Amino acid sequence: MCNCERDCTHISRRSVMAGGAALIATNAFAFRRARAEQSQSSSPLPNAIPPAEALDRLMQGNARYVAGETECKDFSIGRAERAGAQYPIVAVLSCSDSRVSPELLFEQGPGDIFVVRVAGNFVNTDGLASMEYAVKILGVPLLMVLGHTNCGAISAAVKVVTEHAELPGHLPELVESIEPAVITAHAKHPSDLVAATIEENVRLNVKRLIDDTPILADALAAKKIAISGGVYDIATGKVGLI
Ligand SMILES: [Zn+2]
Repeated sequence: MCNCERDCTHISRRSVMAGGAALIATNAFAFRRARAEQSQSSSPLPNAIPPAEALDRLMQGNARYVAGETECKDFSIGRAERAGAQYPIVAVLSCSDSRVSPELLFEQGPGDIFVVRVAGNFVNTDGLASMEYAVKILGVPLLMVLGHTNCGAISAAVKVVTEHAELPGHLPELVESIEPAVITAHAKHPSDLVAATIEENVRLNVKRLIDDTPILADALAAKKIAISGGVYDIATGKVGLI
């Protein structure tokens, strides 16, 4: 049972899949309605900002987080409005690591960040579709691939490649997606292969997003979005852009 005090509903995978189409339809409707309202009122949507401004908001939030100057937020504010639509300013692909929470480390609130998470922060088909949804339906101006220091998934991939380590269950399939980054980093003979692979993995997955056609490529060509990469330092709390 959930003891969460916030709005929290436990749903099965089947209900998630069944509700997927309805979710897209609902958000698409909300999005179109908001666009229509925008054209009537001529006031821009909250996330209708240039990519550079979105990135600046994130980095300013991270600076507050690093300095311990985070604001005490009342998450109930705006809850009713958020039930009708969402206007995130960024879609972040991050690792599942429990120490890496994009909303916290960028000091943003509910509805600000659309998050795709998988151990090792790599792009698979589902993650790519989620990013496309964020751009096409939600109108986010910025995508970010966020790696982090001391990443267990990256360390495991390095051991598989360099020591032929064997992993249980489905972990080999996950690590397989990270191995190209290990191989690319290894070829550069870095002093710290894990750290180099973490950065290389971000670069490779930024490139995968850049190369995605037609949705992301078209949005990039139209300068509607930017795609950036960064590494979160768990020890300092600081995000360094790559
Ligand atoms: Zn990780």
